[in-house]
Amino acid sequence: MNSTMQKISIEKVKESKIDQVDFNNLAFGSVFTDHMLVCDYKNGAWETPKVVPYQPISLDPSAKIFHYGQSIFEGMKAYKDTDEKVWLFRPLDNHKRLNISAKRMSIPEIPEEFFMEGLKTLLEVEDKWIPQTEGSSMYIRPFMFASGNGFHASPANAYKFMICLAPSGAYFSGKVKVLIEEKYSRSANGGVGYAKTGGNYAGQFYPTQLAVEKGYNQVIWTDDHSHEYIEEAGAMNIFIRINDTLITGPTSDRILDGITRKSILQLAEKKGIATEVRKITVTEVVEAAKNGSLKEMFGAGTAAVVSPISAFGYRDVDYDLPELEDSYASQIKKDITDIQYNRSEDPFGWRV
Ligand code: PMP
Repeated sequence: MNSTMQKISIEKVKESKIDQVDFNNLAFGSVFTDHMLVCDYKNGAWETPKVVPYQPISLDPSAKIFHYGQSIFEGMKAYKDTDEKVWLFRPLDNHKRLNISAKRMSIPEIPEEFFMEGLKTLLEVEDKWIPQTEGSSMYIRPFMFASGNGFHASPANAYKFMICLAPSGAYFSGKVKVLIEEKYSRSANGGVGYAKTGGNYAGQFYPTQLAVEKGYNQVIWTDDHSHEYIEEAGAMNIFIRINDTLITGPTSDRILDGITRKSILQLAEKKGIATEVRKITVTEVVEAAKNGSLKEMFGAGTAAVVSPISAFGYRDVDYDLPELEDSYASQIKKDITDIQYNRSEDPFGWRV
């Protein structure tokens, strides 16, 4: 890669729209800050990123993003502590994963410096927008897509890397009720399940909508081959507690390698909670629900943090999960958010 970065230029808005935002009532990902980062890939190299006013972008109707879906993204957060210091959580892991997705989708990889310096510059410009209210944070959306045009079904020759920021509150407002999916699949071996690419999400909307119509919030995906193994949820990895052991499935071609998931595994082990990374079958979970050994299920992801599951549906039967006083989910949520908001030690060196 022959991309070299100059100083990032900053074009500021004439008037900020921050006064129009109610920071005490933030939804998730629906308010955007004054500026965004834009970086173009042309003639085989990434150009120096720019911070510009948040605005619509103009693309040719034949841009390949519209036709062939060459698009990838990341999801991360910035947290402001009580001293107004701003922290990122394992941002290099997001950079690495963005490039894993890029490779799979034939999009040129972005150098670490462009990603990290671009992100830090944008966050400095938008510092006032980073919420300090409990439970809120700055949701960060880095993304890349094919801006190059032409109907030929082949990779584009021009791309954009952008970062937009959305001060956000909770992703789910309450406990989550999930449906174990047996008909539709999210991904398959050899496919793109491990990449954070747009089509993986578009393909989930219809089955999720069917589940929502039945009263569920989310689908739990099972493997495409047998529909017997629990995989992950829409934008979360899944943890299952049977008796006192916390279990999550192994990552694979089909599953996103979640940063929250791997952090929780380390945190749980440090706390002395027994963990297992292994395949877990729907039959095992249903049996455990019936015999009372199923104590907890929760989703884990940057947006949703740790989201307890109140019940799961499988083959037209709902199985409720018990309400626990001192659940693993609540303990782990506290531990991870304490690290993220700089309220505790950072034994693993995750804060940046
Ligand atoms: N699975 C999917 C499909 C996701 O979109 C996400 C959100 N990035 C996750 C799992 C959780 O990953 P992370 O903890 O890195 O946010």
